Amino acid sequence: MPEVKPYWKNYIDGAWVDGGSGKLTVENPATGEKLAEQAIASAADVDRAVQAAKRVYLDEAWAGLRPVERSRKVQAMGRYLLENLHEIAELLTLEQGKPYWEAVIEIEGSARYFEYYGNQAETVEGRSIPLGDGYFDFTTHEPMGVSAQIIPWNYPVEMIARGIAAALATGNACVVKTAELTPLSAAYLALAGEYAGLPQGALNILCGHGHEAGAALSGHVDVNQIVFTGSVKTGVAIASAAAKNVVPCVLELGGKSAAIVHADANLDAFETDIRWGIYFNAGQVCSAMSRIIVHESIHDDVVERASKIAGSLSVGAGIDRREVGANMGSMVSLTQRDRAASMIRAAEGAGAIIAAGGRPLNVPGAFLDPTVLTGVTQDMTIANEEVFGPVLSVLKFKNDAEAIQMANATPYGLVGGVFTRDIDRATKAATKIRAGQVFVNEWFAGGVETPFGGYGKSGYGREKGREALWNYVQTKNVAIKLA
Ligand code: ADP
Repeated sequence: MPEVKPYWKNYIDGAWVDGGSGKLTVENPATGEKLAEQAIASAADVDRAVQAAKRVYLDEAWAGLRPVERSRKVQAMGRYLLENLHEIAELLTLEQGKPYWEAVIEIEGSARYFEYYGNQAETVEGRSIPLGDGYFDFTTHEPMGVSAQIIPWNYPVEMIARGIAAALATGNACVVKTAELTPLSAAYLALAGEYAGLPQGALNILCGHGHEAGAALSGHVDVNQIVFTGSVKTGVAIASAAAKNVVPCVLELGGKSAAIVHADANLDAFETDIRWGIYFNAGQVCSAMSRIIVHESIHDDVVERASKIAGSLSVGAGIDRREVGANMGSMVSLTQRDRAASMIRAAEGAGAIIAAGGRPLNVPGAFLDPTVLTGVTQDMTIANEEVFGPVLSVLKFKNDAEAIQMANATPYGLVGGVFTRDIDRATKAATKIRAGQVFVNEWFAGGVETPFGGYGKSGYGREKGREALWNYVQTKNVAIKLA
């Protein structure tokens, strides 16, 4: 087991500091053992971080730079992550539970955000609006100011990278609150900022309890913009606090996303979508393929394939799973694992059938067998509520209209998918699925470049792509009366 530093501090105004609310213990979910201690920020710590960010923003030390200068620094942050890839990935694995190779993918993905948004820094241009003789009018896009980012535990590095890369590229200063379960690897983002030469106070990273530091940050009067990824309940609390200060939010609140699989789909290829769609990161992915809505004529074949994939995954400690392959790590915590297991039991009680997995592993650690549930109908809780675990629900349809109706029947609308060789059918479905992103014939098709965000209870605003830039800037119009 790699050595882990026993105590990790918060990073406020360019200094590593203790927490005003003491420390918390971070556990390794694969063993249940203590991994390290993390400083816990108080509301006063949050205030110092916000004041530091505000100072940077107002004195133009960052926002006033020529965009190419910001671009180079943002890109350097990504290079730092890649240069320290192995060290960060090991720590991430130990605190979060995912296999080491998945942690490597997460760090590489994080670096990609810095590359992409570093590149975009120079592209945020305004326009000139004709007002007739005697006037000259133009628009500019100015940074929002202090961007607050409240981070979940499923991608503790990548979620920070996604937000701060775009926020910094557009000239904002950031205060990041990490999740209580996974605060450690975030320290490397602060180190990346130091390596890149960000002005002191431009990037603050602290851990604290949601109800204390999180609430202090989301309700702070000097925060100008908030980005949150997490549960609907917490999203509502954050948006309500932000509303009191008239502060805009971007909320990404999960989903219950469905793949519609038609009789003519390439099922050999679809096996890969099952493997990645629901078992990557042990299903703890907002855009997981947690429902398959399959045509009745191929239902049994798809269930057999899904069960074969679930059964083929070796489940165990992420740190021992070094190579890309048929394996899965632990979930993030016993609480999350037990919640998922109880949802499976409730589904069974409601009439669903366990085709694969379905039980916690009888060893220490937050392990759950990769699970496939059949006989699921859209009226069941399991078809509507997010499990956030390696649990796939399979539903049947008879005709296209019914498939779309089922896909759209949850309160969520993050992503959706359609699998068919018929381009007309796929295109029609894509227009009818109420979700921010539709995958045709490959779950997770797209990348940093493609906008991501939800309809309905999945939230509002968009992350990724050029769309995300507009979260972090406000438009100013300048109208000049010429003499
Ligand atoms: P989970 O319940 O799975 O931990 P949450 O959505 O509650 O998911 O947590 C995501 C992030 O939101 C964490 O960083 C957490 O500390 C933070 N958080 C929780 N409650 C609040 C709150 N009331 N205000 C602000 N942030 C919060």
